[in-house]
Amino acid sequence: MLIPARMSEAEEKRWVTVMLNKLAAQESKRVLGDAELAERAERLSAQYFGGRARPASVRWVTNQNTRWGSCTPSEGSIRLSHRLQGMPEYVVDYVLCHELAHLLVPGHGPRFWRLLEAYPRTERARGYLEGVVAADRLPHAPGARDE
Ligand SMILES: [Zn+2]
Repeated sequence: MLIPARMSEAEEKRWVTVMLNKLAAQESKRVLGDAELAERAERLSAQYFGGRARPASVRWVTNQNTRWGSCTPSEGSIRLSHRLQGMPEYVVDYVLCHELAHLLVPGHGPRFWRLLEAYPRTERARGYLEGVVAADRLPHAPGARDE
């Protein structure tokens, strides 16, 4: 680390703390890579679906703006919208579980939702995503300054 010259010890300590906090903030916002995403899907499948959902590929896509995730059961491929990046982990996990469940049950019938009940934060994550959609529709975000 490069420390500016002529800093007092107290200033130096404060500066190091600021830098460490900045690094920690970057770390927590770090986006999962596609490989990590696939690993995570595998872990979620093992934890909630007895490992029965086995995606062949899991990746981020940037061309999906109206859906959070999608899957092609015949190919076993799952795609997650990049708009989920930066959202809480439990929300990303929910969307992964949702798409994993579709590999086992197509459509959104009672069997599908019963399967998804295995993931304990389904309702909370759905509420979060509904909130995001609702906020997107507001003419001005709350607290935003009128330009
Ligand atoms: Zn669905």
